[in-house]
Amino acid sequence: MPLDETHDVSLTSWLESANDPATDFPLQNLPFGIGVIEGADLGAFPCVALGDQCVDLFALMESGLLGEAEDDDSAAEFEDFLAAPWLDPQAWSGVRSRLVELFSSSNTELKNDRKARTLALRPMKSVRMLMPMDPVPNYTDFYASVHHATNVGRMFRPDNPLLPNYKWVPIGYHGRASSIVASGTPVVRPNGQTKSDDAPGAAPTPPSFGPCKMLDYELEMGLVIGPGTDLGHAVPIDEAWEQIFGMVLLNDWSARDVQKWEYQPLGPFLAKNFATSISPWVVTLDALEPFRTHAMKRDPGDPAPLPHLHDPYDQDFGAFDIRMEVLLQTAEMKKRSVAPHRLSLGNLKDLYWTPAQLVAHHTSNGCNLEPGDLMGTGTVSGPTPDSRGCLLELTWEGPGQPRKPIQLPTSESRTFLHDGDEVIFRAWCEREGFRRIGFGECRGVISPARG
Ligand code: MN
Repeated sequence: MPLDETHDVSLTSWLESANDPATDFPLQNLPFGIGVIEGADLGAFPCVALGDQCVDLFALMESGLLGEAEDDDSAAEFEDFLAAPWLDPQAWSGVRSRLVELFSSSNTELKNDRKARTLALRPMKSVRMLMPMDPVPNYTDFYASVHHATNVGRMFRPDNPLLPNYKWVPIGYHGRASSIVASGTPVVRPNGQTKSDDAPGAAPTPPSFGPCKMLDYELEMGLVIGPGTDLGHAVPIDEAWEQIFGMVLLNDWSARDVQKWEYQPLGPFLAKNFATSISPWVVTLDALEPFRTHAMKRDPGDPAPLPHLHDPYDQDFGAFDIRMEVLLQTAEMKKRSVAPHRLSLGNLKDLYWTPAQLVAHHTSNGCNLEPGDLMGTGTVSGPTPDSRGCLLELTWEGPGQPRKPIQLPTSESRTFLHDGDEVIFRAWCEREGFRRIGFGECRGVISPARG
């Protein structure tokens, strides 16, 4: 998608809160979500975020402001599309243009129609956001940050942290779609099987079963898949971006002690599938267009991607400059009204593989994608210690050394998460000459393990 009038930095809205420089949701963003108003006699509705309002797309449609349907069938079809716009990203671009027109400062169609306006604008604080895709058909999680892969690899193989396949193959695994939850859903500490290290020369101790003691988060971006593909069809890399509708923040909660004991030989399983949280607003690729940047520069000794993963446009513009932040607020911090504490700040552009490479690789064997599938990028860690996207990396000091706890403003400390801790992800894009846009938040509070 080329840049167009919907990206114009000078666009303003008659809805004043959309012009607040601090909002994540100016007119240039228009992320998609599904909301519900608790206690109201109204079903869940598809909406876009604008300033401090949720714009109800069904209400706009019923007021005739999104265009007139020719007959009942096409009206029903349009309604289905508005509830799942990834089915047709191109048609969504049309809706986006129309929304920009309707809410622009100079437009009075909705502004001066009090009834339609009251029906369409629902204050965000009165709306509970649900899963944008419900259900998520399939979930895959990648491992696309070379910094994360190197840091984690070093813990197990100090001399040879990266396995030989890493710079050839985007590594991933199939995750569990059933346990993906919307931001704000409590995350129950999982029970699992763990095994402590044996002392050298001593008889092996048996594993035990109980609450996870090394609960962690992973800062990731989730790609929301668009129209989908047929079984047997490999998406050429130069068409892969057509399969990505947008992005959400994703927290791949991880039980590190469970993971350590179970991961060989088949990879992540119960250490990962007890919960995955996503932010409720899908920031569309249309909105992200101004924030494209070149793919991570490979080291001179690195191999070039194989032809099916290589595309000049993708190398030049296939990464996205998106700042990604992790904050922690403990129960004690809440009690004492201490603001959330930043644990890290990274950037999505630091991934070794681009989103298009992930899609091309995923379908290269003929595996089909379904509309609304979710692909996690893997933990987004950057080159510096303050950009490490999980506690496993942040508290690690080196082989044989004890983990270094993170000190919090309450003089509490954390090596891994405690019950009552809330993990908050935020992300935003900034570029000279363009309006800042944001992702909102992805939150989750840890609740105690079930007995
Ligand atoms: Mn992960």
